[in-house]
Amino acid sequence: MEKIKMNKIVEMDGDEMTRIIWKMIKDELLEPFVELNTEYYDLGLPYRDETNDQVSIDAGEAIKKYRVGVKCATITPNAQRVEEYKLKEMWKSPNGTIRAILDGTVFRTPILVSGISPTVRTWKAPITIARHAYGDVYKSTEFRTTKPGKAELVFTDCDGNEERATIYDFECGGVLQGMYNKDSSIRSFAHSCFKYAIDTKQDLWFSTKDTISKKYDQTFKLIFEEIYNESYKADFERLGIEYFYTLIDDAVARVIRSKGGYIWACKNYDGDVMSDMVSTAFGSLAMMTSVLVSPDGNYEYEAAHGTVTRHYYRYLEGEKTSTNPIATIFAWTGALRKRGELDGNEPLMAFADKLEKASLDVIESGRMTKDLVGLWEKGDATALTTEEFIKAIRAELEKVMA
Ligand code: NAP
Ligand code: MG
Repeated sequence: MEKIKMNKIVEMDGDEMTRIIWKMIKDELLEPFVELNTEYYDLGLPYRDETNDQVSIDAGEAIKKYRVGVKCATITPNAQRVEEYKLKEMWKSPNGTIRAILDGTVFRTPILVSGISPTVRTWKAPITIARHAYGDVYKSTEFRTTKPGKAELVFTDCDGNEERATIYDFECGGVLQGMYNKDSSIRSFAHSCFKYAIDTKQDLWFSTKDTISKKYDQTFKLIFEEIYNESYKADFERLGIEYFYTLIDDAVARVIRSKGGYIWACKNYDGDVMSDMVSTAFGSLAMMTSVLVSPDGNYEYEAAHGTVTRHYYRYLEGEKTSTNPIATIFAWTGALRKRGELDGNEPLMAFADKLEKASLDVIESGRMTKDLVGLWEKGDATALTTEEFIKAIRAELEKVMA
């Protein structure tokens, strides 16, 4: 069989158990079928340290060039990791570095299989959460006073003019918080959301609390509205999809009653909280994919989970682990399908579909990794090691490729 040809994508290797799985996926599921064409960046912690983290920056720049990347999970160093890996510095998260370069928004989507139902009975299709990962309470300045006094907001413009507003005249101790966001960041967020909705042909919901936050949240609402009307309305109408704005509390009620199958865009804090709720209700972190979409249309795919450290330590002791590779496989299929779409490469898109189907078919036949066994509803499941599971997917894939 002739291998499928493709244009270049950016490949970012990572750490620990997911690095081991990364290689297995390439060896067993990709390279036998596709002439993989990648620009390789090793984002594993040792090489990040060796290059003073330049490799993370280079990888981000490369995604801008080739428009599509696929990334393995990586360690975000903390004090313990600095010790463990003898690092020169506590390097920043590569995800943060790449997100800053691409100015993108992260979309997280659960992978559904028949036989593992979401906790919410009505959900039949995935709900994708888009979190605005900039500003608000995550970049706030906080203040605690134990004495009475007047708290004010002061804005000094670039000409030195001051504007003031009283926050509160404290008659006792209390707490204060000043936070901000930028029009440019909100605009990027909006563009990424509308683009991704068009890409995936799904409705886009956006929620804030503009009835209470009449300037702050209202600005989010107005910027989304303006960008929608200016740049995306026609495409939405052509595709028969909808842009829907509502209050966050109304959105929560509607999400729980919904069938799923749409994108829910959230402000930073709402996205933090709601993505944990939605992902937990859908089942397993190991079945959650993630894609970073930049406002100018660059895409970076990865699994939503981390490097699965506990499994890696067991692997180092010679144990065969049962780590779930599905989200990492879907990161690859997401990137290959996107490459195919951008280039009109039908065989590559078809391959991505087939690999996803082969992966889910194995689970739906009752064979799966240990994390899913407890969630399985159709009788007895067979627990496989990662290697056995990937081999089972290979066998399915060979059948459909033949
Ligand atoms: P994690 O790697 O996602 O793992 C947390 C736990 O979830 C695991 O111990 C495991 O539970 C379960 N799990 C996650 N993925 C699984 C999979 N594919 N198959 C089976 N079980 C899975 O999160 P963490 O332990 O908090 O973080 C570990 C490292 O990953 C950290 O260094 C962190 O910096 C990094 N991290 C990276 C990213 C990223 O690159 N995007 C994201 C998050 C975390 P059991 O042990 O109970 O089986
Ligand atoms: Mg959270």
